[in-house]
This record gives sequence, C-alpha cells and structure tokens, in this order.
Amino acid sequence: LRDVDEPVDESELAIEGALRPSSLAEFVGQQKVRGQLQLLLDAARIQQRPADHILLSGPPGLGKTTLAMIVAHESERPLRLSSGPAIQHAGDLAALLSSLTPGEVLFIDEVHRMARSAEEMLYLAMEDFRIDIMVGKGAGATSIPLDLAPFTLVGATTRSGLLPNPLRDRFGFTAHLEYYEPVELERVIERSARLIGVAVPPEARAEIARRSRGTPRIANRLLRRVRDYLIVHGDGADADHAIVDAALDLYDVDPIGLDRLDRAVLDAVVRRFRGGPVGLSTLAVTVGEEAETIESVVEPYLVRIGFLGRTPRGRIATPEAYAHLGVRSPESMLE
Ligand code: ADP
Repeated sequence: LRDVDEPVDESELAIEGALRPSSLAEFVGQQKVRGQLQLLLDAARIQQRPADHILLSGPPGLGKTTLAMIVAHESERPLRLSSGPAIQHAGDLAALLSSLTPGEVLFIDEVHRMARSAEEMLYLAMEDFRIDIMVGKGAGATSIPLDLAPFTLVGATTRSGLLPNPLRDRFGFTAHLEYYEPVELERVIERSARLIGVAVPPEARAEIARRSRGTPRIANRLLRRVRDYLIVHGDGADADHAIVDAALDLYDVDPIGLDRLDRAVLDAVVRRFRGGPVGLSTLAVTVGEEAETIESVVEPYLVRIGFLGRTPRGRIATPEAYAHLGVRSPESMLE
C-alpha cells in the first residue's frame, strides 16, 4: 500500500519521530480512545501484568504508530516494531515472537497484510502465549509447542474490515481513529511549531489546519513546508497568512486540503464518469493508482467531507464535489 502521505526522505522521518508525543497527555484529540487506553494501561499497571492486546484502525497519519509507542512508554516496557508485509511466513513470526522479552509491546503495522499461516500462529500466541512449531515435512512432521513470554500486541490497520474475525476477536481493545477537527490540528501545529522553533500566528495555524485533510501527519508536513518557505523567502518573518498560502499552493494542496490524487479521483468521477456510479477498480485504473490506496486513503476523506458517496453500484459524486471542481452538476441543470 503506497501511503501518499509518507514522508519522502530520512531527515523527514527523523523530524516526524521528534514530533511524536510520548505520553497520552500530550496526544491531541481522540479523547474517547485516550480515556479508554488510559484505563486499560492503569488496570495492567495495578495488576502488574502486560496490557490486553490493542487493535488500532484508521487512515494513515492519524497516530496509530504514535499510540503504540505511547503504550510502551507509559507502561515502561520495551517496544518492538514490525509490519504485516515483513511477515510473509509463519517462521518470520515465530522468530519474532520467541525473541520477545516478558511484557514487551509488539507493534505490527498493516497487520491485515500478514501471511495467512502467520495469522493462524498469531491467534494461539495472543490467546495462550504459546506457539506450535512444525518440524519436518509430510507424514513425519510433528509440532513442538513453545511457550512465549507474555506480551502486548498492538496491531494497526487501515482496513479493519480485511482482518479475519478470529484475529479481530483476540484483541481485548479495539479503537477506530477518526479524522481530526481543525481546532485539534491547530493544537498539533502549535505544539510542533514550538518544537521546531518556528513562529506561526494563530490565523496561519488555522489555515494550515484547514488544509491538512484532518490528518496530523499532513499538518506537520505542511508546517515544515511553511518553515522552508520562511527560510528562503521570509527574511525570518512570522508565518503570516499570505506566506502560508503561497507555501501551500506551491505544494499543490488546494484551499480545502485536497491533494493531487484526491482531485484526480473527484475529477474522474465527475468528468469522466459523469458523476458515477463507477466501480472502485475502474476508478483506480483511470487515475493510475492501486485500488487499495484509493479505498483506504483517498475515499474515506472524500466521503467524510461529503464529496463522494458509496453505493452498491459504485462511487458517486455529490453536488458539493461538482461545486468544488467548478462543474455544473446535473441537479443544478434541472433547476
Ligand atoms: P499512523 O501510524 O496512524 O500512520 P503516526 O502515528 O505515524 O500515524 O503519526 C504521524 C505523525 O503525526 C507523527 O509525527 C505524530 O507525531 C503525529 N501525530 C499523530 N497523531 C497525533 C496526535 N494525536 N497528537 C500529536 N501528534 C500526532
């Protein structure tokens, strides 16, 4: 899955790491999830046991990895990072699980992309902290049980619907992260601006927040672009409204935060398919992008802001989408 919001180079990754809040108190928004996690962690601490397994779902950039790190940090346990695509055989998972120390937090990103054989091994590991290792082949094959150190699994997925039920059922706690409200993103930006040492006045913060697609990762990324712009053009001036606008226009983020791919999808539905309905795979081919990226990255936001509807026959554009593209909608022509 290509994450269109993924930072592109190492230094960007390092900055992203530096901007991660390390406690639940610093984590902005997602109030309900934060409260639930706090309770889960407190209970585990009182009973001196590893916390229940946690499943976090939601579009990229909303804080799943950050929350996994916070779980480890707040429970003062080490953290191990892995991802579904890196676990292509049961053996990969067996090696990972058997090397965990007692109480370790294991984060598996994109947990829905693990190999099927590994999934089955994971059920048992999550439930009984035990795995069966197959030795030999054919009629002579035997399975050797292996006890594991108790651990907390934090699984992240952009598509919880793709997880098999037996796996989903073994998470004691499941949370869905929602897109952030602009005021919450303003707080993310305020915090990050302080950390990277750039002065951003409130109106400019609001402008960045409006264009961040409800996503903290994008807010942080746009903030860095504004900072770059200031370094080059700003004579050290504060990031006023005009500078923010100029910097963001340069990066092809439109006034409501849609990026190139969002607009390509909308444009295809509205112009090419006359408002739809159009099927996902046709749409993906038309814009030259993987269907999974369209479905888990692009569509959730367009649906959330009311530009796109999903129907059994395919995707349809709403009158708001037509208005945003400056195209007259079929409805408006009837008037
Ligand atoms: P995901 O794993 O869901 O793709 P990440 O946890 O990697 O997202 O978050 C991406 C970036 O956004 C990180 O730099 C993180 O610091 C920031 N971020 C995400 N959620 C929050 C939040 N609630 N408060 C502050 N910063 C956040």
